[in-house]
This record gives sequence, structure tokens and C-alpha cells, in this order.
Amino acid sequence: MSSALVVHNVSYAYGMTPILKNISFSVQKGSFYIIIGPNGSGKTTLMRIMAGSGKFQKGRVEIMGRHGRQYSRPELARTIAFVPQNISDDFSFTVREVVLMGRSPHQGVLGLERKEDGKILKQAMAFTGVEHLAHRKIDQLSGGERQRVFIARAICQEPRIILLDEPTAALDLAHQVRIMDLMEQLKNEKGVTVIMVSHDINLAAMYGDCLLLLKEGRIVSQGRTDEVLTFETLENAYGCLLLVDESPLGDFPRVTPVPRKLKLEI
Ligand code: ADP
Repeated sequence: MSSALVVHNVSYAYGMTPILKNISFSVQKGSFYIIIGPNGSGKTTLMRIMAGSGKFQKGRVEIMGRHGRQYSRPELARTIAFVPQNISDDFSFTVREVVLMGRSPHQGVLGLERKEDGKILKQAMAFTGVEHLAHRKIDQLSGGERQRVFIARAICQEPRIILLDEPTAALDLAHQVRIMDLMEQLKNEKGVTVIMVSHDINLAAMYGDCLLLLKEGRIVSQGRTDEVLTFETLENAYGCLLLVDESPLGDFPRVTPVPRKLKLEI
């Protein structure tokens, strides 16, 4: 199986402060790859670099077998779609207009909407369940609805790789599972490679084909969920007591943080 994305020896610093230190990993085509790690470990910085929107001082990123720097902007947008963490909602576009923006890398210089764009737009909106919101303003939606709209826009780009930075943060349980199911469906039905940052280790355990655990800008562990989600590795990375056992739902680990009041009883 070949790689959709390869990060080779990437280092990054904000000014004099090193943030990412010699990061190397590769993401298999058509896999669901999830990046976890404590706050401030460099996950968002790494996502921006992979999306081509962050310049880095050292290393190389290969996207679909080509050096990231060889891509033109529209070409990159046809290959990778990025759903960032904090999307500004202070603009007054309708849902349809926002989703249609995903077609712009496929449009000509005049940016005219073509018949094909309308069809892809409709499919993306149906896939994410936002059709009924088409004429609503984006700033009038709930967090879960807005998140699905931005995912629909990313799908409209028809990318080979989709990057999502904490798409389930601030969503209730039903919406979290819905977003994860959508991404799994995108992977299975369209062969899209999904790369996601998540704070939810249990969702990562259930959906991830491969996990990467970051701490202080370094890779602590990477591999299958059962290889990464071990008691020793997680306790070392997060610095708190955790219980790791097998999920009653299947053959994957379940991670439970232990409250201070219960520590003595374990
Ligand atoms: P994570 O997504 O894992 O929480 P980030 O990539 O957002 O981590 O941040 C990694 C580190 O870089 C943090 O210590 C953060 O304070 C720092 N950082 C993030 N953005 C900037 C910036 N624009 N300027 C300086 N430092 C930053």
C-alpha cells in the first residue's frame, strides 16, 4: 500500500521556540489516521504544515508522492482539504454559498458555476445532511450544523486527503459519532484518506486505523491503536492516572481517566 502523505524529518519553531522536533511518519492511502496528544504538543501546527498553510524550517512533506512545494495552490486544494479548528463564523454567507466555495479550485478563471458543480454540491450536502439548511446564514447555525457545513465544503473540493483539526470538539455525543461515521464512510466509499486531530482517545481507538501520539513536539508513539494506547505510553504522555482496558464494544482499548478521589482504591 502506498502513502498518501509523508512527513519527513520536519522541524518547526515559532521564533526561537522549537515546536516540532524531527517529526517523521507516513499515512497510508485510504486510511483513517488520528493524531492525539496533550494541549500544546504541536498537533495544530503539524496539521497546518501538512495542509500546506504553514512554512517550516526543516524537513519535507510529500503529498501523493510529490514534494508539497511542487503543487500550485489550486492543485493542492484539489488534493487536500483542510477543516481547521476555529472557523470564523462572522461572515454572512448562506450554507449553499459556503459549500460551493469548495468548488473554486475546480473552476476556471471566471469562477463560473458549472452544471457539474451543482451536482457535486448537492451530493456533498446530502452526504453531510445539511440540505435543509441550504438557505440559512452560516452564523445562525449550531456548532454541529456548522461543522457539517464546513465538512461539506471540504468534500466539495473532491480531495484525495481530508485533514480535520478537532472536528468533534464542542459537539454533543450524537454529533461526535455522526462526524466520525461520516469520515469513515468517506474513507470506505470514496477512498479518501482521513487525517484528524482528536482529543477523544476513545473515539480515536474505535475509528483510527493508525494513531500518532505527540508530546512536546516529538512523536511518543505511532502505530495501531493497541500499540499506542497502552497504560505506560498514555500515562507518560498525559501525566495523569488512567485506566486502560478493553472496550465492551469490540477489540479496541478503552481509556478512562481516574479521578483523584478514586485513586487510592485502585
Ligand atoms: P496543540 O494543537 O497540540 O494544542 P499547537 O500546535 O496549537 O498545539 O501549539 C504548539 C505550541 O506552539 C504551543 O506551546 C503554543 O503555545 C505555541 N504556538 C502556537 N501558535 C503560536 C504562535 N502563533 N506564536 C507562538 N507560539 C505559538
